[in-house]
Amino acid sequence: MDLQTPLRELGIKYKTQGKKLDKLGIITIEDLLFYAPARYDDLSTVTKIDKIQAGTTVTIQGEILQTEQVYTKRHFNIQKIHVSDATGVIECIWFNQPYITQTLKKGVRVSIAGRVEESKRIASLLVKDYEILEEGIPTTHTARLVPIYPETHGLTSKWLRNRIREVIASSLNSLEEFLPESIKSNHNLVDIKKAIAQLHFPDNSEHAQIARNRLSFDELLLTQLAALKRRLDWEEATITRPFSITPYEKKITMLINSLPFSLTHGQQKAIDEIFSDLTHTKPMNRLVQGDVGSGKTIVAAISLYLAHLNGFQGAYMAPTSILAQQHYNTISKILEPFKVTVELVLGGSKSKKTSDKAHIIIGTHALLGEKASFTKLGLIVIDEQQRFGVEQRSILRDKGTNPHFLTMTATPIPRTIFLTMYGDLDLSYLAELPRGRQQIKTWYVPTIKREGAYEWIKKQIKESGDQVFIVCPFIEESENMQTVKAATQEYAHLKKDIFPKLKVGLLHGKMKVSEKNEVLSDFKDKKYDILVSTPVVEVGVDVPNATIMLIEGAERFGLAQLHQLRGRVGRGTKQSYCLLFSEQASEQTVNRLKALERIQSGAELAELDLKLRGPGEIFGTHQHGVPFLKIASFSNFPLIEKTREEAQKIVKRLAEFPLLQEKVKSTITQRVSPD
Ligand code: ADP
Ligand code: MG
Repeated sequence: MDLQTPLRELGIKYKTQGKKLDKLGIITIEDLLFYAPARYDDLSTVTKIDKIQAGTTVTIQGEILQTEQVYTKRHFNIQKIHVSDATGVIECIWFNQPYITQTLKKGVRVSIAGRVEESKRIASLLVKDYEILEEGIPTTHTARLVPIYPETHGLTSKWLRNRIREVIASSLNSLEEFLPESIKSNHNLVDIKKAIAQLHFPDNSEHAQIARNRLSFDELLLTQLAALKRRLDWEEATITRPFSITPYEKKITMLINSLPFSLTHGQQKAIDEIFSDLTHTKPMNRLVQGDVGSGKTIVAAISLYLAHLNGFQGAYMAPTSILAQQHYNTISKILEPFKVTVELVLGGSKSKKTSDKAHIIIGTHALLGEKASFTKLGLIVIDEQQRFGVEQRSILRDKGTNPHFLTMTATPIPRTIFLTMYGDLDLSYLAELPRGRQQIKTWYVPTIKREGAYEWIKKQIKESGDQVFIVCPFIEESENMQTVKAATQEYAHLKKDIFPKLKVGLLHGKMKVSEKNEVLSDFKDKKYDILVSTPVVEVGVDVPNATIMLIEGAERFGLAQLHQLRGRVGRGTKQSYCLLFSEQASEQTVNRLKALERIQSGAELAELDLKLRGPGEIFGTHQHGVPFLKIASFSNFPLIEKTREEAQKIVKRLAEFPLLQEKVKSTITQRVSPD
């Protein structure tokens, strides 16, 4: 059996659980071997029965003396099994597992972990896990450090443990060492076979750590090798006709002069960097990073105009239809006076095919499909790039011939993460916000001040004509019905009980595109004072008159995400405000939220998030394309440094290490996104 054998071929056990395994991303034997536990339950100490103490969790081992089933009136049943070791006897208790007495019979030797309860001075064991002891075979679920898996999608950790035990026995030997010997010895790393065995069933916590060190090293090394390799491959592609700038300088200046504002220093610098890339024969691969409101759209528009002047078409892809629509409005307004034709393509049956003569096509994922075709695609812009996977980029890329890539993100990415995940990209950074923007006054609002805050909002609306966003959190991982329901309820409550005299609107991700657009444009036209919404407004929505952002359940968001939401206001010149509501007021939560009162820089907040809560929070676990690590940590700076050095040393010599090269290839094609 080879490690790439799909588990489904291993028999009925896997077939019936196939869908759940798919959800965990576990398809092959190898996937299962590398599925790392999140932690271990320490059930390693085996206690003699006469030494157990009430209230503790212990493992006991012994022989079954007798078994008994007890039925209660309410169709409840209890299994009581007496186990004895040399020191005594204890009653072990299961609930509603009648089948258990079929395998656990008198005379069988067992290992049982559970919690000791005492009633009338008699101790019994509420069973947590058990297994039959067999001569010469190590235990799996008791009497050891027991692996607990991070997510199971309906499978149990016990089920996974059993299967992993089996594949370790059958297939671990086919796992070949892929790290070069020199790297292993330089960094004191254990062999891969040993690492996998100890990852799941460690002899002790020190061995678990040694295994995890090895696997963290691998993960960071492979991620960085993949980025560097992508870069090398990218550099091999050549542009047949680089863009020229000089003949078009006048036209570009006219476009810039037509804008109602002058460019910020950062915008100008980013444009210079982009233009310089575009004149090379190597395709551009640049990321523009800038806080919400820093004006990335204009940078895209000007770059697309240069592509057009050079006779190339442009594509501009955004993650949501609201955003695509908004970009379409902005870009066509700016560029149409300069005789550039702009078309929009959205998903859904109503959106029609674009003309392949359009100069610029803006759209959602629909750009990847058949509705959008190009004859001479030269520049691709991707907004909120971390929401798209590697495959989607390459589909779009194939619609042109070695087109230039410009990607944009408002997510402040800490430097270490940037280098690890996106080492193949060049970076432009829009440091400052356009002039005239005021700082957004931010307050954490404790529950007792909720009423007062509502009164203040009423006053602001009445006296200053302010408009308000009220954002409800995701209830689960993503925008599902439960989240929509919660927002809808909050909307009804606010409309009826709190703001009966005001116009309140509702926006959520499950609405039709046309409905969403209508609500947003009504809000822009001031037909609503307040817009209640799920976090769909997070990215990009531009409503300059909205000046108050109220966030419910603020503790459920990462700091950088809150910062992005806050960036929805403060887009005009009026003073803007952000109110963070949280009912869950632990001191830690309050301190975390208060950081937003002091810190206005997205980059700084991201670094703080990384420190306080890990990378998931920076990107928001709700987002697609979270650059996630399974076992290593982005806060392990020394390891990131070490693996980076190794990756740089070895990337050009990969051909000498075929197994490593194979691994790097599969890392590159892996989707960045977990869904
Ligand atoms: P983001 O970086 O979040 O995508 P946008 O491109 O949506 O930001 O720009 C936010 C707002 O700022 C828009 O209304 C845009 O017209 C305006 N804007 C962009 N650049 C400037 C500038 N240099 N000066 C003033 N306003 C600007
Ligand atoms: Mg934007």
